[in-house]
Amino acid sequence: MRIECIAIGTELLTTRRLDTNSVWLGERLAALGLGFHRKTAVGDSREDLGQLFREALTRSDLIITTGGLGPTFDDFTKECFADILGAELREDAKSREDMLAFYAARKRVPPQANFKQALIPAGAEALANPVGTAPGVWWADPPGHSGTRLVMLPGVPREMKRMWEEQVEPRLRALAGQQVHTLRLVVGGVPESNLDERTREARERHAHLEWTILASLTQVELLARGSDLAALEAARVEFEALLGGDLVGVGDGNLEDAVLERLKARGETLAVAESVTGGLLAARLTAIPGASEAFLGGATVYTAAAKTTLLGLPAAFLAAEGTVSEATSRALAEAVRAKLGATWGLGLTGNAGPAAEGGAPLGAVFIALAGPRGTVSKAFNQPGDRTDIQLRSTAWALDLLRR
Ligand code: ATP
Ligand code: MG
Repeated sequence: MRIECIAIGTELLTTRRLDTNSVWLGERLAALGLGFHRKTAVGDSREDLGQLFREALTRSDLIITTGGLGPTFDDFTKECFADILGAELREDAKSREDMLAFYAARKRVPPQANFKQALIPAGAEALANPVGTAPGVWWADPPGHSGTRLVMLPGVPREMKRMWEEQVEPRLRALAGQQVHTLRLVVGGVPESNLDERTREARERHAHLEWTILASLTQVELLARGSDLAALEAARVEFEALLGGDLVGVGDGNLEDAVLERLKARGETLAVAESVTGGLLAARLTAIPGASEAFLGGATVYTAAAKTTLLGLPAAFLAAEGTVSEATSRALAEAVRAKLGATWGLGLTGNAGPAAEGGAPLGAVFIALAGPRGTVSKAFNQPGDRTDIQLRSTAWALDLLRR
């Protein structure tokens, strides 16, 4: 089923309002094993709506709109669809009653313009609005588009959500039939393009599944969607073998979950000494409930003085080696490991910018891992903005520990 979302409202094209409706709808669809193939935001313009609706009718089986159902001059979602599909708008008796009741409960009389909201395209069903006055529309098999479904919901998030949950989801469940499942493979330390290339052939062999590669600063996800569980399981086995040590995990978790799980399983502990990441690595680890079983703590040693005072790195050593250096990362890892009596100690130092400093180019990062069999360290160099460099550094550190 090709599903398209159209968020209607001129305010969504400015910086005043974000289209959060489609994000919420996307999550609800995912829970049903469905998803959008396209999302658009469009202003309250008759011409733009008409053009977009015509296009959508040619490419999508389910079109969901939010907004433009109100009583004012700039609301014409229903009119536009009715025009294009050559259907009349007719007053829906139940919607008119609901509106009168809504106002009566508040001891008011509806303004004349509001009656426009009770108009529904002939052949469509009204969706009652229990928290507002604008009913929505469910239109199955509109003229000339058999198999297509149109869903028109209000823009007000609270109204849209209620109506979706109570009236649209049950209709979709009846329609969807088979459920779609997702296989999620999390990969660490491999660039997106490399993963794309390495898995291309195998993905082609499993072309009956729908594949997506999703890269972030800290990991890459390979997602397969399909309704055949046996086919997904066969893909899992094959991709686990193909990705080997680069595979961080299968399922919901991320890099930090995998690292903590592994430490717990082995009864090992971790301590971190963070300079360049300023505590971000500890924050990522402690965001996971139960982290204390494996993560002991650490130190944010941002200045040379902090490295000396908290972890006992001699000032003369730092002056000689430089604070951003392989030697310093190793000393940090070893010191924090010893201080906290952890199985592993991680030390991170680097230059996150904005410019080169004291001989360290922008993006230079050194990460060391001290453990029972000694210390290993690695140099990285990848410029970016501050957040990029800091986030990537946490991923490199976790990856070093994972391997
Ligand atoms: P209705 O169909 O209920 O009349 P509307 O588009 O006519 O909706 P507006 O007055 O334009 O009503 O919008 C109502 C509120 O809903 C506004 O605060 C608007 O910013 C918000 N809204 C509309 N669309 C979205 C969206 N896609 N995501 C988040 N908020 C939205
Ligand atoms: Mg609007």
